[in-house]
Amino acid sequence: MTNEMAGVFGMILAKNAPTMRMTVENLYALQQLQLQTGPVSAEREAMIKLLREKIPAQILGHFDRLMAQGRKGVALVRNGVCRECHIRVPSGTAASLIHPKDLYLCDNCGRYLLLPLDEIVPAAEPLAPQSVPVRKTRKKPVAVAV
Ligand SMILES: [Zn+2]
Repeated sequence: MTNEMAGVFGMILAKNAPTMRMTVENLYALQQLQLQTGPVSAEREAMIKLLREKIPAQILGHFDRLMAQGRKGVALVRNGVCRECHIRVPSGTAASLIHPKDLYLCDNCGRYLLLPLDEIVPAAEPLAPQSVPVRKTRKKPVAVAV
């Protein structure tokens, strides 16, 4: 990555990422609160209400549908894999999650994807797509019976 590009990414990060990232983080926090077992405290109720007010209704709607089905609404991404359905997240999506400009859903399970902060590699290390070993198709010479 050139310095110029890093600068652009920095700008994007400063401009857009806090809101998008915060939305998913709020969703995740909400999920943790809603899934919490034990006695419902007034504090927890207040926190849930506060978080729900911060999240746009449309986003909350999809989240609630997933939660109503007894599924989690937000999936963490670890090592490029959706932690809920264990399917690899496309590398393009995984890269976008570092500086989210939008919300991303898992292609497979439809949950909102959240890249935990400790999964974000420093900008100094370029996110090179992992080299996929090329399978060599070795053709065996066909023995022709004469
Ligand atoms: Zn998934």
